[in-house]
Amino acid sequence: MNFSQRLQEMLQRFAVKMQQFMAGRYGTDSFTLFLVIFSMVFTFFGNFRPIRFLYFIGVVIICYAFFRTLSKNYDARRKELNWYLVWSEKPRAELKLLGNKIRDAKTHRYFKCKECKTVLRVPKGRGKIEITCPKCRAKVIKKT
Ligand SMILES: [Zn+2]
Repeated sequence: MNFSQRLQEMLQRFAVKMQQFMAGRYGTDSFTLFLVIFSMVFTFFGNFRPIRFLYFIGVVIICYAFFRTLSKNYDARRKELNWYLVWSEKPRAELKLLGNKIRDAKTHRYFKCKECKTVLRVPKGRGKIEITCPKCRAKVIKKT
Protein backbone atom coordinates (compact mmCIF):
# COMPACT_ATOMS: atom_id res chain seq x y z
CA MET A 1 0.00 0.00 0.00
CA ASN A 2 1.47 3.36 -0.95
CA PHE A 3 1.22 6.59 0.97
CA SER A 4 -1.83 8.09 -0.76
CA GLN A 5 -3.80 4.86 -0.35
CA ARG A 6 -2.92 4.76 3.32
CA LEU A 7 -3.93 8.40 3.70
CA GLN A 8 -7.23 7.73 1.96
CA GLU A 9 -7.95 4.80 4.23
CA MET A 10 -7.12 6.90 7.28
CA LEU A 11 -9.50 9.66 6.15
CA GLN A 12 -12.25 7.14 5.49
CA ARG A 13 -11.79 5.63 8.93
CA PHE A 14 -11.91 9.13 10.41
CA ALA A 15 -15.12 9.92 8.48
CA VAL A 16 -16.77 6.73 9.83
CA LYS A 17 -15.66 7.59 13.37
CA MET A 18 -17.09 11.09 12.98
CA GLN A 19 -20.38 9.68 11.74
CA GLN A 20 -20.56 7.35 14.72
CA PHE A 21 -19.72 10.21 17.05
CA MET A 22 -22.39 12.48 15.56
CA ALA A 23 -25.09 9.78 15.52
CA GLY A 24 -28.02 10.85 17.68
CA ARG A 25 -26.59 14.32 18.10
CA TYR A 26 -28.40 17.45 17.03
CA GLY A 27 -25.92 18.81 14.46
CA THR A 28 -26.17 22.29 12.97
CA ASP A 29 -29.10 24.49 12.02
CA SER A 30 -29.56 28.11 10.95
CA PHE A 31 -29.31 29.25 14.59
CA THR A 32 -25.86 27.63 14.82
CA LEU A 33 -24.80 29.49 11.69
CA PHE A 34 -26.04 32.73 13.24
CA LEU A 35 -24.10 32.01 16.45
CA VAL A 36 -20.91 31.28 14.52
CA ILE A 37 -21.14 34.52 12.53
CA PHE A 38 -22.02 36.45 15.69
CA SER A 39 -19.05 35.01 17.60
CA MET A 40 -16.71 35.84 14.69
CA VAL A 41 -17.88 39.46 14.80
CA PHE A 42 -17.38 39.57 18.59
CA THR A 43 -13.93 38.00 18.55
CA PHE A 44 -12.90 40.34 15.72
CA PHE A 45 -13.89 43.49 17.59
CA GLY A 46 -12.47 41.96 20.77
CA ASN A 47 -9.00 42.48 19.26
CA PHE A 48 -9.30 46.16 20.11
CA ARG A 49 -8.08 46.86 23.60
CA PRO A 50 -10.87 49.01 25.08
CA ILE A 51 -13.50 46.41 24.11
CA ARG A 52 -11.41 43.31 24.77
CA PHE A 53 -14.26 41.70 26.76
CA LEU A 54 -16.12 41.18 23.46
CA TYR A 55 -13.51 38.55 22.60
CA PHE A 56 -14.53 36.47 25.62
CA ILE A 57 -18.20 36.85 24.82
CA GLY A 58 -17.35 35.61 21.33
CA VAL A 59 -15.61 32.55 22.80
CA VAL A 60 -18.61 31.83 25.04
CA ILE A 61 -20.93 32.08 22.01
CA ILE A 62 -18.83 29.67 19.92
CA CYS A 63 -18.74 27.22 22.86
CA TYR A 64 -22.51 27.40 23.01
CA ALA A 65 -22.66 26.72 19.25
CA PHE A 66 -20.48 23.61 19.74
CA PHE A 67 -22.58 22.51 22.68
CA ARG A 68 -25.74 22.76 20.56
CA THR A 69 -24.17 20.83 17.68
CA LEU A 70 -23.10 17.96 19.96
CA SER A 71 -26.24 17.99 22.09
CA LYS A 72 -28.52 14.96 22.23
CA ASN A 73 -31.45 16.96 23.58
CA TYR A 74 -33.38 17.52 20.33
CA ASP A 75 -36.42 19.06 22.04
CA ALA A 76 -34.46 21.83 23.73
CA ARG A 77 -32.44 22.58 20.58
CA ARG A 78 -35.58 22.75 18.43
CA LYS A 79 -37.15 25.12 20.95
CA GLU A 80 -34.10 27.38 20.67
CA LEU A 81 -34.25 27.22 16.88
CA ASN A 82 -37.94 28.13 16.92
CA TRP A 83 -37.32 31.00 19.27
CA TYR A 84 -34.51 32.23 17.01
CA LEU A 85 -36.63 31.95 13.85
CA VAL A 86 -39.48 33.94 15.40
CA TRP A 87 -37.21 36.58 16.85
CA SER A 88 -35.15 37.00 13.68
CA GLU A 89 -37.99 36.88 11.16
CA LYS A 90 -38.11 40.64 10.56
CA PRO A 91 -34.36 41.30 10.41
CA ARG A 92 -33.90 38.32 8.08
CA ALA A 93 -36.66 39.59 5.78
CA GLU A 94 -35.12 43.09 5.79
CA LEU A 95 -31.71 41.66 4.97
CA LYS A 96 -33.13 39.62 2.10
CA LEU A 97 -34.98 42.65 0.75
CA LEU A 98 -31.81 44.71 0.92
CA GLY A 99 -29.99 41.99 -1.02
CA ASN A 100 -32.74 41.97 -3.66
CA LYS A 101 -32.68 45.77 -3.91
CA ILE A 102 -28.94 45.73 -4.54
CA ARG A 103 -29.26 42.89 -7.03
CA ASP A 104 -32.05 44.65 -8.99
CA ALA A 105 -30.80 48.22 -8.53
CA LYS A 106 -30.41 48.78 -12.27
CA THR A 107 -33.66 47.23 -13.44
CA HIS A 108 -36.31 47.51 -10.73
CA ARG A 109 -37.60 49.73 -7.97
CA TYR A 110 -39.13 48.59 -4.72
CA PHE A 111 -42.10 50.17 -2.93
CA LYS A 112 -43.97 49.33 0.20
CA CYS A 113 -47.75 49.35 -0.16
CA LYS A 114 -49.10 52.06 2.13
CA GLU A 115 -52.14 50.00 3.07
CA CYS A 116 -50.83 46.52 3.77
CA LYS A 117 -47.02 47.02 3.78
CA THR A 118 -46.53 44.43 1.04
CA VAL A 119 -43.31 45.02 -0.87
CA LEU A 120 -43.93 45.77 -4.54
CA ARG A 121 -41.33 45.45 -7.26
CA VAL A 122 -41.74 47.41 -10.49
CA PRO A 123 -39.52 47.72 -13.56
CA LYS A 124 -37.52 50.94 -13.79
CA GLY A 125 -37.84 53.58 -16.52
CA ARG A 126 -41.57 53.39 -17.23
CA GLY A 127 -42.23 56.98 -16.15
CA LYS A 128 -45.22 57.69 -13.93
CA ILE A 129 -47.36 54.61 -13.57
CA GLU A 130 -50.29 53.51 -11.45
CA ILE A 131 -49.43 50.48 -9.40
CA THR A 132 -52.12 48.21 -7.99
CA CYS A 133 -51.13 46.23 -4.94
CA PRO A 134 -51.71 42.55 -5.77
CA LYS A 135 -52.64 41.80 -2.17
CA CYS A 136 -55.06 44.56 -1.12
CA ARG A 137 -55.82 46.24 -4.48
CA ALA A 138 -54.75 49.66 -3.20
CA LYS A 139 -53.61 51.93 -6.01
CA VAL A 140 -50.65 54.23 -5.90
CA ILE A 141 -49.03 56.44 -8.56
CA LYS A 142 -45.26 56.26 -8.60
CA LYS A 143 -42.44 57.46 -10.79
CA THR A 144 -40.30 54.53 -11.82
ZN1 LIG B 1 -51.39 46.45 -0.36
